[in-house]
Amino acid sequence: MSLWKCSLSILMCFLSVVAVTGQQFAFSKGLYRIGYVNGTEVTVTNDVWHHDPLGKLDIVTDAIAPGIVAAAAGWIRWIVEDNTEECHPNGNGEPCCWRLNNYVVIEHPNGEWSQYTHISAGSATAAGRFVGEWVESGTLIGIEGSVGCSTGPHLHFEVCRPPETGTAFDTIGGFLRGELLNPVICGIGTAQPYYVEGPTYTASPCDDNCANNYVVSGSLSANQEFVGRADTEISTNNVSPVVYANASSAQFRAGGSVRLRAGFHAGFGARFTALIKACNTQN
Ligand SMILES: [Zn+2]
Repeated sequence: MSLWKCSLSILMCFLSVVAVTGQQFAFSKGLYRIGYVNGTEVTVTNDVWHHDPLGKLDIVTDAIAPGIVAAAAGWIRWIVEDNTEECHPNGNGEPCCWRLNNYVVIEHPNGEWSQYTHISAGSATAAGRFVGEWVESGTLIGIEGSVGCSTGPHLHFEVCRPPETGTAFDTIGGFLRGELLNPVICGIGTAQPYYVEGPTYTASPCDDNCANNYVVSGSLSANQEFVGRADTEISTNNVSPVVYANASSAQFRAGGSVRLRAGFHAGFGARFTALIKACNTQN
């Protein structure tokens, strides 16, 4: 659960989102939209800090059999859609019948990969998709289902930076290999642009109204996270230097410049990245 501590100002409120303790994840370099057709209202039942295994996401909606879409542009690298059964538990000694998952895997130009699991049988082909195809963000890639290791209709979603050598995903089950990332999500507000359990999000293209310039003036303690996005510049405040403690996770993303003023410090094990990318540019 996230806990909001709003003591000093809106900004401090924004910077004091407390993550659950435990494993922390780097934020994706890519910006991803919600992987459902526009207008679908969704909630996250397992965020990256709660999914079993960690680092992946489960998303649900009350909509009936909604379309699943590519969360960013890329090449479709694998489709499995021949399975038909929801099979958890499967009773054959495996913890779950993930071997019978249906899924789509997409490679993005920035080197990250995304994966979409449990789609209904035949729905990727029915949408016109094929392996090797380039798809734009928001392209229909299947219909939400409950096929494989699943206890009800939902989208299992994960984003990964693949290993240096070897394949990027398992062809059986469909799980991505390498470093699992916490995907930065557009269309859910700029204050906390990553999935957490609780809020209702509405799927849309990446069209957040970002601030032009943004000055970061709060610090992070261990296991806290923060993503700052601005159209032009993100900078830190040197009046009270910004310190990101060990095991925190943060990303600054601005279209023109990122300025880390004197005193900025990211501690050992902190996952900090600075990107020169326009606020709503994906990939
Ligand atoms: Zn899942």
